[in-house]
Amino acid sequence: MTTWLCKACGTQFPPSDAPPAACPICEDSRQYIPHDESQVWLKWSDFLGDHRPELRDEHGLLGIGCEPSFAIGQRALLVKSAAGNVLWDCTPQIDDEVVRRVSAEGGLAAIAISHPHYYTAMVEWAHAFACPIFLHEADRKWVMRPDPAIQFWSGETHDLGGGLTLIRCGGHFDGGQVLHWANQRALFSGDTVQVIPDRRFVSFMYSYPNLIPLPASKVQAIAAALRPFPFETIYGAWWDSVVERDGSGVVRRSADRYVRAITDPGLPS
Ligand SMILES: [Zn+2]
Ligand SMILES: [Zn+2]
Repeated sequence: MTTWLCKACGTQFPPSDAPPAACPICEDSRQYIPHDESQVWLKWSDFLGDHRPELRDEHGLLGIGCEPSFAIGQRALLVKSAAGNVLWDCTPQIDDEVVRRVSAEGGLAAIAISHPHYYTAMVEWAHAFACPIFLHEADRKWVMRPDPAIQFWSGETHDLGGGLTLIRCGGHFDGGQVLHWANQRALFSGDTVQVIPDRRFVSFMYSYPNLIPLPASKVQAIAAALRPFPFETIYGAWWDSVVERDGSGVVRRSADRYVRAITDPGLPS
């Protein structure tokens, strides 16, 4: 038996002899089955054989990804708080080199992942470091590989200690969560608050690849959920997708611009 990765989204499925019949993550309207090669499954061991770790400084934090880029292409971040290290978001790239490096940094006290597109091989990480995974219960049905390490939380915020707070923003996914680090005035936003080329703004979508926007009420709810948590830096989902200053103002102005764009007949400014 082996575990399988969906090539398009990177989700890992439980051990089985044959690949899964379908990937519910990709069949959802927020993702897609690639039109040119349909559904492709990789053995996780084959993925590791074809990729190597990409470990580098990401605006002061250790970023963990892989080369060549795989699936959606996000990188994980090691957040070193006073209450222990938290892996924010996830990658299927967990091999001996990665485990050695993260262990040298003090290991992991917890894993937290913004939304189902980045669950990938979270269970492998939890097993390697004997730590819990914190997900919002509203996204329970999107977990493709259940495991006792997964702890679902409910409500609107969850305190991880060390100045770290998980905030349920919803939007892209109902259980979409972001991580606020009060001590460093930083926000880790996944796809919930999307860092875009113009670093004076961010954006929000129901589906990024399929270009389906969110309704105004959902965007306003994201901005409202973040209002009590001031931050300067916004760490997005990919390498170098970082807003360096005035993050709270960036989100506030971007939500206003977005709502104008989808409700006013004129062009946004
Ligand atoms: Zn998939
Ligand atoms: Zn996503």
